[in-house]
Amino acid sequence: MKIYLDNAATTKVFNEIKENFPKILDEYYANPNSIHSEGQKVKNQIEKARREIAQVLDVSYENIIFTSCATEGSNTIIKSLIFNKKNKDEILISPIEHKSVLVPARFLTKFGFKLKYLKVDKDGKVDLDDLKRKITSKTALVCVVHANNETGVLQDIEKTGQICKEKEILFFSDTVQSFLKEEIDAENIDFLTISGHKINAPKGIGVLYAKNKDFLVPLLHGGGQEEGIRSGTQNVSGIIALNKAVNIWAENKDKFCEKIKNLRDSFEGKLKELISDIEIVSKNTDRVCHISNIIFPKVDAQSMLLALSSRGVFVSSGSACSSGTPTPSHVLLGYGYTEDEALRSLRFSFGVHNSFEEVEKAVKIIKEVFDKFYTFY
Ligand code: PLP
Repeated sequence: MKIYLDNAATTKVFNEIKENFPKILDEYYANPNSIHSEGQKVKNQIEKARREIAQVLDVSYENIIFTSCATEGSNTIIKSLIFNKKNKDEILISPIEHKSVLVPARFLTKFGFKLKYLKVDKDGKVDLDDLKRKITSKTALVCVVHANNETGVLQDIEKTGQICKEKEILFFSDTVQSFLKEEIDAENIDFLTISGHKINAPKGIGVLYAKNKDFLVPLLHGGGQEEGIRSGTQNVSGIIALNKAVNIWAENKDKFCEKIKNLRDSFEGKLKELISDIEIVSKNTDRVCHISNIIFPKVDAQSMLLALSSRGVFVSSGSACSSGTPTPSHVLLGYGYTEDEALRSLRFSFGVHNSFEEVEKAVKIIKEVFDKFYTFY
């Protein structure tokens, strides 16, 4: 038995994509940068994907750049600051960003940039008054993630974008966990990133949206693909698969989100009935539908995670990318939780492929595992 409740880490590829994949590889193997007709046939598929993804985001298709992953997009945006520095050398950033944003931003301190962290309250909301106070003439970029990958808490990126626009400051929002689950108004966003494998496309494909592409300096120089912003032959099958995943999600958004939210809510309700003193992080705050972060009383989450894994229930502690490192989550510490509380937290994340039956089974197993560890704490 396998109950996969780690959909914020990655998702299972849609069957429609899986079944069609050999055909994609057979039909579209030519290099999209070749000028012969087979190459152009492949290029057309890439441009179709670019147009359709742009349409979903309601942005201009020329501003969509295909990357290998969201991490690449974030690195491209942030490292471009080095070459656009002028006299602006401050980055305002929430301390609860994904590592793929935080770490490149910290890297920029080697180039004379200063990071100013934005205040976050116990519910996980970025304090926008603090943002207003901290913006100066030296601010180069504001980074605020839309949906946090560990807790699901949503930030008001519309307001954040307005504040930045009024002050003429660039705004980057990592929308990896919210894309197609929440409305994203890109009007006041300068940069955003998307990752295919979080929406049931295969790994190895991402999207970077940039309102002003001229700002971007490539990480990879070479053949000039993606208008020179991302050289290297495009991941054609990944782009076609991403296009399909985006379309499936866009057509079924309400249905998918309702199902996932019901799974999540049912999970939280049932777990709370069995273990009354769990804390559901940011339960009463706006959260994206698929993520639930639970702080258990008196257990070590890492041990619980491994015990759950041996019983066929797959979850995360902290962020999946940092699993295996027994350091407390920087996100929960950012909310003001103690190290001890952060080390007792597990993330459960739900997806279109999960069922209510799985939720029921998982809750029972979690209770059994919890009882075992609680006793020996
Ligand atoms: N941003 C967020 C919020 C994420 O959850 C993740 C992945 O966990 C990433 C960025 C990185 O995505 P990718 O694996 O495509 O680099």
